[in-house]
Amino acid sequence: MWEAETVYIILMIGPPGSGKTMLAKRFAGILPKLTFREALEATQIHGVAGVLPAGIGILHSRPFRAPHHTISDAGLIGGGSGSPRPGEVSLAHQGVLFLDELPEFPRGVLEQLRQPLEEGSVTLARSNGTLTFPARIMLVAAMNPCPCGFYGDNTRECRCTPGIIQRYLAKISGPLLDRIDMHIEVPAVPYKELRAKGEGHSSAQIRERVEAARETQRTRGFYNSQIPPSLLRTLCALDDGGERTLEMAVRRMNLSARAHDRMLRVARTIADLDHSEAVSAKHLAEAVQCRNLDRNYWS
Ligand SMILES: [Zn+2]
Repeated sequence: MWEAETVYIILMIGPPGSGKTMLAKRFAGILPKLTFREALEATQIHGVAGVLPAGIGILHSRPFRAPHHTISDAGLIGGGSGSPRPGEVSLAHQGVLFLDELPEFPRGVLEQLRQPLEEGSVTLARSNGTLTFPARIMLVAAMNPCPCGFYGDNTRECRCTPGIIQRYLAKISGPLLDRIDMHIEVPAVPYKELRAKGEGHSSAQIRERVEAARETQRTRGFYNSQIPPSLLRTLCALDDGGERTLEMAVRRMNLSARAHDRMLRVARTIADLDHSEAVSAKHLAEAVQCRNLDRNYWS
């Protein structure tokens, strides 16, 4: 999962004020604790960039970086005149890179994220050769459901025309969407309701479950994100109900092969968190829930 070639990408969709930023910060808190080696790597990058906080010898928690959509290419990916500096994607190494208002980021910038997402590193050109910075991140992105933010909201009226909404969503459709593991709808929760619900699970409790699921995967031989396609059906063995749910989902959602594989891996992870050897209909249904955009907008 973490030393993996593949990274997890999550997209949250919800109206303004639904707590997307708060949730994104929480992701860094439920990831496994930094190992010493990971902490050293992250610290080094911060040192090179000159942003290590004064008096801090080594970073103890996973970085959380949230650049604004007006950031330059060099600011996000790295580079600049003179000796190239690591960008936000490298400062987020071993942690979370949060891109709020994803459709507002220039398309070129998103395209440039492809290399770090696939290789876990960024290679920058310089006058006398190239320079590589690590960039193994969990990418968490967020967007409104439409430009005004209130499409599908029960409490406020959306003022966008279908054409405007389509153009807005089209900015992140296609290849980028295919690379995203989970699209999650984050509805606006009335403040009172939020208070009434109490604390739920604490980040520390969730982290324990995450670490246990990771251990299960280690003994299986692969982290779920690393399972090669040829072993996917073996290691993500479905029970009968799971098979039927998968068949239905693929048909209804018209999934690409890549999206299908990602969904199976997510279902495997949900089953691991549930201490279940087989992937059942319940786990698969939850993974389907995590592909909101396929379900609601593009099918
Ligand atoms: Zn709207």
